Amino acid sequence: MESRIKTNSRKGFYYTNVDQQSERSPSVIVIGGGMAGIAAARALHDASFQVVLLESRDRLGGRIHTDYSFGFPVDLGASWLHGVCNENPLAPLIGRLGLPLYRTCEDNSVLYDHDLESYALFDMDGNQVPQELVTEVGKIFEMILQETDNVRQEFSEDMSILRALSLVFERKPELRLEGLSHKVLQWYLCRMEGWFAADADSISLKCWDQEELLPGGHGLMVRGYLPVIHTLAKGLDIRLGHRVTKIVRRYNGVKVTTENGKTFVADAAIIAVPLGVLKANVIKFEPKLPEWKEAAIADIGVGVENKIILHFKNVFWPNVEFLGVVSETSYGCSYFLNLHKAAGHNVLVYMPAGRLAKDIEKMSDEAAADFAFAQLKKILPDASSPIQYLVSRWGTDINSLGSYSFDAVGKPHGLYERLRVPVDNLFFAGEATSVLYTGSVHGAYSTGTMAAEDCRMRVLERYGELDIFQPVLEEGSVIPLLISRI
Ligand SMILES: Cc1cc2nc3c(=O)[nH]c(=O)nc-3n(C[C@H](O)[C@H](O)[C@H](O)COP(=O)(O)OP(=O)(O)OC[C@H]3O[C@@H](n4cnc5c(N)ncnc54)[C@H](O)[C@@H]3O)c2cc1C
Repeated sequence: MESRIKTNSRKGFYYTNVDQQSERSPSVIVIGGGMAGIAAARALHDASFQVVLLESRDRLGGRIHTDYSFGFPVDLGASWLHGVCNENPLAPLIGRLGLPLYRTCEDNSVLYDHDLESYALFDMDGNQVPQELVTEVGKIFEMILQETDNVRQEFSEDMSILRALSLVFERKPELRLEGLSHKVLQWYLCRMEGWFAADADSISLKCWDQEELLPGGHGLMVRGYLPVIHTLAKGLDIRLGHRVTKIVRRYNGVKVTTENGKTFVADAAIIAVPLGVLKANVIKFEPKLPEWKEAAIADIGVGVENKIILHFKNVFWPNVEFLGVVSETSYGCSYFLNLHKAAGHNVLVYMPAGRLAKDIEKMSDEAAADFAFAQLKKILPDASSPIQYLVSRWGTDINSLGSYSFDAVGKPHGLYERLRVPVDNLFFAGEATSVLYTGSVHGAYSTGTMAAEDCRMRVLERYGELDIFQPVLEEGSVIPLLISRI
């Protein structure tokens, strides 16, 4: 598929080899080797398409990044399967591989964990917050969120979660908390901000609860997520270190150029790069993408969540799944995942999100690890220093430019569908194109298989091998119809 000749004909530009359809099998270029791209490439390869996958990094997985430098696997990106159930599209594969999951949360909630025995919260002086208080404030937090629903019904205009919370407090002052209870409430808010990788002042009130949560709770991938990627990628033609910079689409094919000067042509392309990369215009499209697609790229929010992984010689912390620090503001709160309880490793994972995560990304790795350790020292003053650390930088890494997408204030939830809808022979996949499971690994996987199926139908239709063409469309979504005048 590499480097073929472009010909000028009366119809316009076309790619010669692509046109000799009867002599060869249909071809597709998949751009991006994360979960979505690999799922798409796998499906098309298995359908006997010629597939080449171009990946900018020197590794596969994208926002799945299992590191083995400590001598055991730790995930710097995704680590949970959200929804441990048979309906989860990844469940059959994970089950078949025999990969163990550790359920950190028994129920399906994301904002309020009802299994509070798995948490230990501390104030800045290292005093543990009584468990009854944590439970009580958790219930109040749930009530406050329910009240925000009334605000949502009342106002036609969207607003941020933060603004809705302040309206709730104005109307129901009895829900306003003081002292330690206020700090615990801020900690719940900090957890919510972590889920969206964004601050409460930028999360949409209208859309924040529109995603679908699969049942079965949240299962941590004890041996890391990478085995899933490697299994799906087996036998595929993958080119690492190939950063795509330009995509030209013509009526009969696509031509993709990479930073290292190579070109590839095929019948179609599946674009499975992160939304942050599309926003930054790292890839030039010729002709330009339609306005509705550009608007979707611009309007969907991308947040930042990072992981600072601290490896200790000994375990000196309580045997709970999460350790938390409560504070006056959600920015000052923090939490650590205890990998000792989940996987038996002497590791705590600090997970800042939103503005805090962006601020920490401005620091060196050493300063970021010191910062995380300083948070730990606040609650466990006798903590011994880590022997090793790892720091993620999802916000500034040119290959991601953000951690995952979220609903920004005033923007409709239907934007995800707009991002997914194909443009001619370009198909789009990735977590930000998932309407139901945005921001997740299983969401990315589903969009990859869906894009592959759309692409397969489209290409076979051109090859005259398909009788019925039924594009997969989300029910109720309104995408501008393509109208041409000759
Ligand atoms: C810190 C963190 C924690 C998370 N935790 C969870 C979790 O516990 N559970 C969960 O379900 N989800 C989690 N997520 C979200 C999850 O990781 C993502 O939704 C999912 O992995 C995205 O997959 P993707 O294929 O859409 O994108 P990516 O995995 O980002 O793949 C895109 C690929 O495109 C490549 N690329 C970029 N630019 C170019 C270019 N110009 N040319 C060629 N290739 C390019 C990238 O290098 C990358 O490999 C987390 C994410 C982060 C950052």
